[in-house]
Amino acid sequence: MKNIIFILSLFLLVSCEQSFSLSVQNINDEILENANDYQGDWLTYGKNYSENRHSELNLINKENVEDLELAWSLNLNTKRGIESTPLVVNGIMYLTGPWSLVYSVDAKSGELLWTYNPNVSKSHGEMACCDVVNRGLAMYKGKLYLGALDGRLIALNASNGQVIWEKNTLVGLEGSYTITGAPRVFDGKVFIGNGGAEYGVRGFFSAYNAETGELDWRFYTVPGNPENGFEHPELEEAAKTWTGEWWKYGGGGTAWDSFVYDAKEKLIYVGTGNGSPWNREIRSPGGGDNLYLSSILALDVKTGQLKWHYQTTPGETWDYTAVQPLMLADLQIKGKNRKVIMQAPKNGFFYVLDRLTGELISAEKFVYANWAEKVDLETGRPVETSFARHINENVEIYPGPFGGHNWQAMAYNPNSGLVYIPAREMSMQYGKESTFEFEPKQWNTGTELVPGASGKNNGNEILLDSILKGESYGKLLAWDPVKSVEVWSHKQDNVWNSGVLSVNNMIFQGDAEGNFVAFDAFNGDQLWSKNLNTGIIAPPMTYMIEGEQYISIPVGWGGVYGNGNKHTEQINPGTIYTFKINGQGKYPEFEKALKKSRITFNTSMSMDDILHGGQMFSIYCSQCHNLGNGGGTIPDLTYSTETVFDMYDNIVLKGVFLPKGMPSFKDRLSEKDVEKIKAYVLHTASTLEP
Ligand code: CA
Repeated sequence: MKNIIFILSLFLLVSCEQSFSLSVQNINDEILENANDYQGDWLTYGKNYSENRHSELNLINKENVEDLELAWSLNLNTKRGIESTPLVVNGIMYLTGPWSLVYSVDAKSGELLWTYNPNVSKSHGEMACCDVVNRGLAMYKGKLYLGALDGRLIALNASNGQVIWEKNTLVGLEGSYTITGAPRVFDGKVFIGNGGAEYGVRGFFSAYNAETGELDWRFYTVPGNPENGFEHPELEEAAKTWTGEWWKYGGGGTAWDSFVYDAKEKLIYVGTGNGSPWNREIRSPGGGDNLYLSSILALDVKTGQLKWHYQTTPGETWDYTAVQPLMLADLQIKGKNRKVIMQAPKNGFFYVLDRLTGELISAEKFVYANWAEKVDLETGRPVETSFARHINENVEIYPGPFGGHNWQAMAYNPNSGLVYIPAREMSMQYGKESTFEFEPKQWNTGTELVPGASGKNNGNEILLDSILKGESYGKLLAWDPVKSVEVWSHKQDNVWNSGVLSVNNMIFQGDAEGNFVAFDAFNGDQLWSKNLNTGIIAPPMTYMIEGEQYISIPVGWGGVYGNGNKHTEQINPGTIYTFKINGQGKYPEFEKALKKSRITFNTSMSMDDILHGGQMFSIYCSQCHNLGNGGGTIPDLTYSTETVFDMYDNIVLKGVFLPKGMPSFKDRLSEKDVEKIKAYVLHTASTLEP
């Protein structure tokens, strides 16, 4: 019987492909709304409008997965983070890389067809808190849509990568905005938001006409200065929840990742980001919920009118964004069929809401979290712990700013009924920055962070063993969204791992050590694994061409954590690896990096100068450069060569490494400052193990 169903479903899939040849040209609203009818293709960022990243393709399955081998690989010749989900239609793959590059690839052979480079100014790199990444494209009626790092929304001709139209989404706006997220097309409009809430910006997202590029509507997520009036009535309501002069700091609430769509209800759902600055004491000194920070918003797709909102973290103060992937599903809860929206945001609670009304159905911790005891289902609000707001002293809070879960895609398998979350157990000590002064376009969180555990228990009675020891670790978590419990989890040594793919009855995920792994969706058993030698952060995806199923994973270490850390011997250039049963592809070989040694020469500068250099290092350099641990995609300067040290002026002031993304600081630092920073780096090196 099983076999008959298998053959039947295969027949349906094949016949579907044959009766109608899908291409970017004919992708329209109806096809996107019914993306699950086209299982052989991957038409939109999260696979379908529900963004459940679940594929019913079953040619690769538990019985044959051990024969999964490389079909082809393609070197993208870049060494920054790759977070992109490839799209595939009609045998062609489209994906993005660092600096908003676009690649079109023959999905069967791996041959590069064309590339598009929007030529983002490398000086824009320093405005990106979290690497110069891009998470992907949208496609519709012959066009591909790209959000470029510098704020441009670009429509490309899908057949050759030529620009059809280009809009600057930031016209009239000041500040360090960036786009890293994938645009989505709903109802003939392209939706895009942006990031920047670490640098003092005001969040918003926009809907553009997909054909012409005209701005249709825009929604600001936080109010501006009330004296200037409100752009839309929702902001007047929101302003009642703010105090002080928040608009001077931007306010935050940037919508940099998640957009999903209920095509039947004509509602779009958007996740919003953290406050700017993080510390509410500075941003809104009289308190307040600060709407619509850290919220899930439901809006009418045609008008942009807010239908309901749910704020996950009122009065946000921990960088607890709610931009993490949103997912739609229909669940049987207490005997009733509920249309729900689900999210596992940074704050550590898994939320299930009625997506028609915004009613909170459940919210339970999916990782250890000590900022709140629970979420009260009556009020829909978290019950914060007494120490959570770290007003007078440093306090260790779980989760930290990396979040219990970040942008890495989760998946939902309707057959197992489980949501698969690339989660992490990790804390940070938060304190108030004693000398906060707002500097436009600079890192402005108003928060002092001390990595690692304080060893304090903070009065919580239930602490996991390893958490008590201050360990941080990743975990792939299978979560039952109906019962709100963990069903299985797989512990990972490191905290920064890839998004997930649900295919048939398996879950695929990559990790920080370069392992690409298949798990049994029902019990978490490991079924297959390959080491690809570079840490993996982008999610895998699957597609079918001429009756053969493929699984693809873009590999390229980076992202906010990868900038300063790595867990492989070296970081190889970004590469797409594509697998099939009995694939005959040859694994690429990469040049072995020269072994670097820690610098040993010292500085003759005074301790005062060294300390001043340290302060400047923490303001201008430490966002990207880690000192002491060997670094990630961005070098650890204590391993620089003597030649590099001799070039400090040229690098820091004259910008000779700008092509690599290292900005010039000539407007902000003097030659004397650079000498002090160098002295600080040398002094730090002398205190470390050789
Ligand atoms: Ca943030």
